[in-house]
Amino acid sequence: MQPSSRIRAILGGGASGWEVVHRARKMQRQGVRIIDLTVGQHEDPTPAPILEAMHASAMGGNTRYSDVAGSSELRAAIAERAAARTGAPAGPENVVVTAGGQAALLHAFMATLDAGDAAVMIDPYYVTYPGTIRATGGVPRITPARAEAGFQPDLDALEAACAGARVLLVNSPNNPAGAIYSDETLDGVAEICRRHDLWLISDEVYDGMAWDQPHRSPRALPGMAERTVVIGSLSKSHGMTGSRIGWTLAPEEISALIATYALNATYGIPGFIQDAGLWALREGEAIEADLAGTFHRRRDIAMRALAGRQAVRLSPPQGAMYVMVDVRATGLSGRDFAERLLEEAHIAVMPGESFGASAAGHLRIALTVADADLATALTRIADLAETLAAERAAAG
Ligand code: PLP
Repeated sequence: MQPSSRIRAILGGGASGWEVVHRARKMQRQGVRIIDLTVGQHEDPTPAPILEAMHASAMGGNTRYSDVAGSSELRAAIAERAAARTGAPAGPENVVVTAGGQAALLHAFMATLDAGDAAVMIDPYYVTYPGTIRATGGVPRITPARAEAGFQPDLDALEAACAGARVLLVNSPNNPAGAIYSDETLDGVAEICRRHDLWLISDEVYDGMAWDQPHRSPRALPGMAERTVVIGSLSKSHGMTGSRIGWTLAPEEISALIATYALNATYGIPGFIQDAGLWALREGEAIEADLAGTFHRRRDIAMRALAGRQAVRLSPPQGAMYVMVDVRATGLSGRDFAERLLEEAHIAVMPGESFGASAAGHLRIALTVADADLATALTRIADLAETLAAERAAAG
């Protein structure tokens, strides 16, 4: 008997860099104090009022099977939020509640790709994208966004990659780059989707974390609501990573397919988690603003800490909970730099290479430690980069 090859095919090859995370964890277990800037997760647990809503719901008996697509109240609240944020009308019939943004991505690809269809994605990218596309039988087709262009995709290269594809996947505010797509990029993306008759999957899980300009969704652009699936989540916005609650916002026909898949995949999300999510959406505005404000403040700390430092360059950090630091002046790869940083300074960061070739020679820094630790870590990163760059210059 042979096990399925489908799951093994998900692995693909590709992303590296988890060695740094594993080594950091091992050092922590041995008692070494590490400043851990690897994983995109708040340092504090889910805010207490959200947990209280969850507790009250569970104790009130909401522990049975739930509506597979999500409760009507939650779908309506998500639609209301999405309409406000994407600028295009939405109703509960457009929403399916999923186990986090990750399951929303899988459901969205399941509903839009057939086996062998190409889905275009932009490098650097969130690590699960290629595997999620492959899990549906789709074929990831990767096109670069260069650091020199602030990690905005080159529209001509993007259009060339989209020829014959079925889906285009974009993510703004972006993990890992911290970039936000410009109006020109978003208009270009929409134009490409219309011209090549593509589904657009727009991952907007960081929609509340746009620092210098309001978030704009490509769903609001002409002709796009009927071809766009927006991916949403309460993981980052409300500190609910462990609750696994997210959604797809899609045309009704696609939502119906997604609900069919959900029926067979999860049979719905726990009712008490949904009620906690409903509370978060209805009453949790201050919580969301507070969490986002923390990352905004830390973005500013990062900019101040690295300003004027010679061997490091910060890509314009415009949103999400990350900054991307260019260490190519040291001559080291992101991975080699990250390894030395861990050994010598006890700071753990993700090598840029983990997110695709376009982020080679960079470090992704999650802004997920206390302000003082972040400032210390960035100073040590800049110090190490300057030492390495000086050694390189001396060696000629
Ligand atoms: N999309 C992006 C860009 C992410 O960074 C993440 C998580 O880090 C997700 C989707 C999945 O988020 P979750 O499944 O926790 O909602």
